[in-house]
Parts: sequence; structure tokens; C-alpha cells
Amino acid sequence: MKQVNTLNSYSLRLPYKKDKKGNVLELIWSEGPTTIISAEKLRQACPCASCRTTKIKILPEVEILEIYPVGRYALNFLFSDNHNLGIYTYAYLRSLDESQDGI
Ligand SMILES: [Zn+2]
Repeated sequence: MKQVNTLNSYSLRLPYKKDKKGNVLELIWSEGPTTIISAEKLRQACPCASCRTTKIKILPEVEILEIYPVGRYALNFLFSDNHNLGIYTYAYLRSLDESQDGI
């Protein structure tokens, strides 16, 4: 059963990590299950203004190069296509979870 949480009710238990290839993000939350998101899906879901207004072509081999915490509520990523404008809130990241889909 999916739990409904309000924004900011999550905190991330460090370390979050990416795999060696940088193409899968694994986030371990202090409450609730681990969230797994592929870099391609994460990049596709970029919430920044320019990605929301422009159709972007995402290469399946896109990688996560860096992960930056934004305060205590969000993460920012640098992708291998040099894009780093998206601020992904914890709630948004959890909504992208692919671990149920068996990737
Ligand atoms: Zn973007």
C-alpha cells in the first residue's frame, strides 16, 4: 500500500548512491522503502521550467554524474548531457519510484 505523505515529511538517510555506471539512483529514506529511479526516467522527469515547456530528447544512456542536496527537502542532479537545472523534491522523487516495476 502506498503511503500518502505531505511534502517535507521525508528525510534522506545518507548515503544515497548511484550505481557504478551512474545510471540508477537509489535513495534510502529514513521512513519507508528505498526509492530506485533510472537516470533516464529521472532526466525525463526534470521539473525545471525549460524541460517542462520544451520537448526534450533523452538518450537512454544518460548518466547521473553528480548529486547535490538542496536544503533538506530536495536533490539536484548533474546529468551527462550537462543539464543540472532541476530541483527534485523528496516527494517528487518518491513519486518516480520504479522499484515496483521491476527494472
Ligand atoms: Zn530540466
